[in-house]
Amino acid sequence: MPISLRGGDPERAGAQPDRRDRLWHAVLLTAGLVAIGVPLLAPEMRMVAYLPVVAVALGAVVTGTRRPRIGPRWPWWVMGAAMVCSAVAGGFPDYTDGVDVLHVVMCLLFTMGLLGLPGGREWSGLTEAGIVLCTGAALEWVFLYDPLVHDRTATPAAENTIVYPMLDLLVLGAVVRLIVVRGGLNRAEMELATAATVLTAADVIFFVSAVTGESGGPAWSTVGWLFGFLLVGTAALRPEDTEQPGADQGRPHGWRTVLANIVLVLIGPVVTVYLLITENDGEDFDKMDVLLPMGSTGLTAVLLVIRLSHTTALAYQQTARLRQAVREQAGLQETLSHQASHDALTGLPNRQTMKGLIADVATGRTGGAFLLLGLDGFKDVNERLGHPIGDALLIEVAARLSAATRDGETAARLGGDEFALLLPGSTAENAALRAEALLGELRRPVLAGSQSLRPSASIGVRGFAPASDSVHILSDADLALYAAKSAGKDQVAVFDPAMREEQAERIRLLDRLGAALDADEFAVHYQPIVALEGGTVVGVEALVRWFPPGQKPVGPDRFIPAAEDSGLIIALGEWVLRQACRDAVAWHRRWGTGVSVNVSPRQLADPAFTVKALGALRDSGLPATALTVEITEGVLVRSGAHAQQAIAHLQALRAEGVRVAIDDFGTGYSSLAYLRDLPIDVLKVDRAFMPEDGADTSQLALVRTIVDLARSMGLVTVAEGVETPVQADLLRVLGCTRGQGYYFARPVSGPDLEAMLTAAELAHAG
Ligand code: C2E
Ligand code: MG
Ligand code: MG
Repeated sequence: MPISLRGGDPERAGAQPDRRDRLWHAVLLTAGLVAIGVPLLAPEMRMVAYLPVVAVALGAVVTGTRRPRIGPRWPWWVMGAAMVCSAVAGGFPDYTDGVDVLHVVMCLLFTMGLLGLPGGREWSGLTEAGIVLCTGAALEWVFLYDPLVHDRTATPAAENTIVYPMLDLLVLGAVVRLIVVRGGLNRAEMELATAATVLTAADVIFFVSAVTGESGGPAWSTVGWLFGFLLVGTAALRPEDTEQPGADQGRPHGWRTVLANIVLVLIGPVVTVYLLITENDGEDFDKMDVLLPMGSTGLTAVLLVIRLSHTTALAYQQTARLRQAVREQAGLQETLSHQASHDALTGLPNRQTMKGLIADVATGRTGGAFLLLGLDGFKDVNERLGHPIGDALLIEVAARLSAATRDGETAARLGGDEFALLLPGSTAENAALRAEALLGELRRPVLAGSQSLRPSASIGVRGFAPASDSVHILSDADLALYAAKSAGKDQVAVFDPAMREEQAERIRLLDRLGAALDADEFAVHYQPIVALEGGTVVGVEALVRWFPPGQKPVGPDRFIPAAEDSGLIIALGEWVLRQACRDAVAWHRRWGTGVSVNVSPRQLADPAFTVKALGALRDSGLPATALTVEITEGVLVRSGAHAQQAIAHLQALRAEGVRVAIDDFGTGYSSLAYLRDLPIDVLKVDRAFMPEDGADTSQLALVRTIVDLARSMGLVTVAEGVETPVQADLLRVLGCTRGQGYYFARPVSGPDLEAMLTAAELAHAG
């Protein structure tokens, strides 16, 4: 019974063969020696030697068949059965017709076995086998049957043996077919082919001696048969090659095959000519009558063979090209579908894919959480350091995100600086913890080009129950992200349904922003800027406020970005500038206080800005030297026309005496080096750098470095967000000259400021 490869015990099969094979080889070799000795034995003793040798060959086949095989086992069993037939025939005490019948069955079984070997089921190779068969038949006719049988009266024994060489043609045909189908032979198949040839030779010898009555023939035939069987045994014992020896049935014929085909097609005409000439020798026979037509037939056949091989080559080329095209097409299709579902820059799944996944997980049975991550200040990196650095940062963030992703989770890039992480089965609380850990990961410095960036991100978390509606998950996470950003960035916020209401409120508010300027709903408040040594108010910062009627006042952080987006900031900014100049002119006359006005990037991109600013100064009567414009660092270091325009404005204003301050210094991705080349006078150190009470030395060292550098460049430093007397003292010790913050005063309305300054003056005087 066939044993399947998987069902076998490969270890047992793999461990033993070495020793067992050696034993088998020794046995087969001994059997081979015995086989050679057969002609030396007396005819009645031959069968005594014959049977054990066949038994050995059969044993080898049975053993080989029981080993793990890739191909089917039955062909080997069938070849084994062929040997049994031969052994039984050999066991007949006398010659009978049964012996010949058994021999016929043996040949048929052997042919069947060869046809059943792996790769044997295809139809290809049958034509080649047919060609060899026909040619072989012709040769057999000319060299065996015509001279030996046709012209003689055959003996009864010879009558039966006539079929022997004919049947061998079948065996040889099967071998040819195997060669064609397999595109070459492995060692086992080579041994089988040799066995087939040896068996054929043995049969021919037997046939010849039977019809001629020569006595030595049968002995040698016996040697041939035995050798044939032993070779089949050796082949069966060989471990099967996993790979076919280059089977590629469509490939064009090599020159050897073409040559072989030419020889084959020529055999017919040559044999015909040979027969006609030899058999009509001496008669009135014109050789040219045969030679010419047969010659031309032969030549035609040769040309046809060549033509056919060309056609085959051509077809093969076309097929190869077609296969290549199909392969490329499949590859292209794969690339396209990957492109459609993945982000090109980072290779992460894209928004579309993530949406699908969210829908799958949300409607599933586990529930889960969705994290929406936005990089803080990414726009600034892109604009200031250029897109290649921005891209490098995104790639690094994607890599860190992927590294933090566990089994079953998916990281994606939704676009721009937005990333996402889907955590199936997680609660919102756990997701928030994961998000915190992720933020820690992201804070590690990134080396992009020659730049060392310190990225940070904000994350919105949205948990969802099993079988929930996925429609709002992304937008809710967006709200949570917005909350995280507005709460100061670099933090995590978990979605809360109240956020939707807040969002609606925001939208309503911003809808009204456009009309607010005309409705006179804005006011400018002022916050003193104080000399840390002595405590005098040296200037004030103008800070815009919005008082929508019937609602709470709105801080600039909530509407400046929207005003910036809508372009309203240009009109609003101009209004603030004019108002501030008008308010400040009296304070300047009385106390010498200057005024700082925040100017947004959009205003600096307006070609008319210088004209507007100078107009505000002229109309108010405030000297240009009393005005400071506060800009953020991004404005100047951006590349392109906008930065050029901004620098031109600042240069023009400075030429008139206006001073320029860098606001929130240190929050962008800036280096101090660029300050040297820019038209600035004041550095306002962001309140993030404000040393906390009991601050560690490294934080103090950072502030000291900034202050020292600014001083070495002749810049004035203003510390923002001073909230305690300890901070004020520390900053003074560190060399900072000015401070601004709740410790000194909160932003107040113009009249309140005036009262404050008057009171201070009186206190001073008193
Ligand atoms: P900024 O220019 O950095 O203004 C300083 C902000 O810090 C003000 O917030 C101020 O109220 C706040 N602040 C001052 N001292 C302290 C302190 O000790 N502790 C804390 N925690 N905060 C303090 P405000 O008024 O909400 O303004 C926020 C931002 O809005 C400003 O930041 C500025 O960038 C922008 N902004 C305000 N007014 C205008 C304007 O008229 N035009 C433009 N373009 N932007 C403006
Ligand atoms: Mg400011
Ligand atoms: Mg500031």
